[in-house]
Amino acid sequence: MTEKTSALKIVDAKGSHYEVGYQLGTKCKDMAISMIKENRESLKASNINLEKAISHSKKYLPYAEEFFPQFLDEIRGYADAVGFKFEEAFSWFCSEPIQGARRCTDIAVNGDVTADGTVYAVHNEDVELEGEKHVIVVRIKPDDEPGFIALSYGGLWVNSGVNAAGISLSGNALTQNDTRIGIPQDFAVRKVLASKTIGDAMKAAIPENRASSYNNIICDENGEIYSMEGSGTDFDALYAEEGYLVHTNHYLSPKMAKYEAVFQAKHDKTPLRADSIIRYNRGLRLIEKELGKITVETFKKIMADHVNHPWSICRHIDERLPPKDRSKTVFSEIIDLTHRAIWACRGNPCVGQYAKFELK
Ligand SMILES: [Zn+2]
Repeated sequence: MTEKTSALKIVDAKGSHYEVGYQLGTKCKDMAISMIKENRESLKASNINLEKAISHSKKYLPYAEEFFPQFLDEIRGYADAVGFKFEEAFSWFCSEPIQGARRCTDIAVNGDVTADGTVYAVHNEDVELEGEKHVIVVRIKPDDEPGFIALSYGGLWVNSGVNAAGISLSGNALTQNDTRIGIPQDFAVRKVLASKTIGDAMKAAIPENRASSYNNIICDENGEIYSMEGSGTDFDALYAEEGYLVHTNHYLSPKMAKYEAVFQAKHDKTPLRADSIIRYNRGLRLIEKELGKITVETFKKIMADHVNHPWSICRHIDERLPPKDRSKTVFSEIIDLTHRAIWACRGNPCVGQYAKFELK
């Protein structure tokens, strides 16, 4: 089982987007240096030359520039503060998604089904093991956007959170067969957190000219909940009609099924995404038992569920796999949209201690 992990820290940044990036880079410098090292090592292990990766990422730059140049300024500030090239930092966001090891489980519920009317979006982040030590909470207040609080890697790589306008972004990886050169998927994530309405968030989640897409779960404080199942060229908007939804790592929309790519891992050639289907149904069953009485405590229990262990909602390392294919839950997060707060723990929620972080 997993060892007990250290508590999550929070860093603040505010000002222009460049200043935000510079402050994050200054405060998270050690983490950034470790991320640079690991990214270079992982490229090497895949026989990819760093310069080639950087030159490949340049094809994505005009799309990112047109879609959300503010985030490019944050990357520039971050790279300057840490002391490495902007081009290398940008290339982190442009590797075609290597999602073999990436699984996540998400649940979102609105006030119709919670004990006190609070709206929640909940996320277990299941990725490569190295991710765990780079997780940090950020509270960012750009001059020209609503402030937000989110989980991130190294401060820069924003993953999931909620903003002052009551918009949240969470979600999970999908493996799609129509990826292309375009807007990197993490730019959509960051832009949703700059949105002031659910409509703006929806447009930001599925931009035209995107390279690929996560399943972006967007919610607002009124309890409007959408799972934006995207691929490179198409999407479907799944609505939480009964006040709740669950999503894992396969397409649910019949319209999107044709974009599901077969995962070609060496250890497992079966196209059946068994663990994703099991986590999805398990999550639904567990949440449906709690409708009407859901609180933060409900999610602490559900996100630590071990059915189909180690490929469970609380994901553990499968020791049978080669090290590079191993993954686990590196953080768990309960976003409270109503009170603009998050509860989060580093590592597996079955052993981690959730701490509360507030936007204000
Ligand atoms: Zn566990």
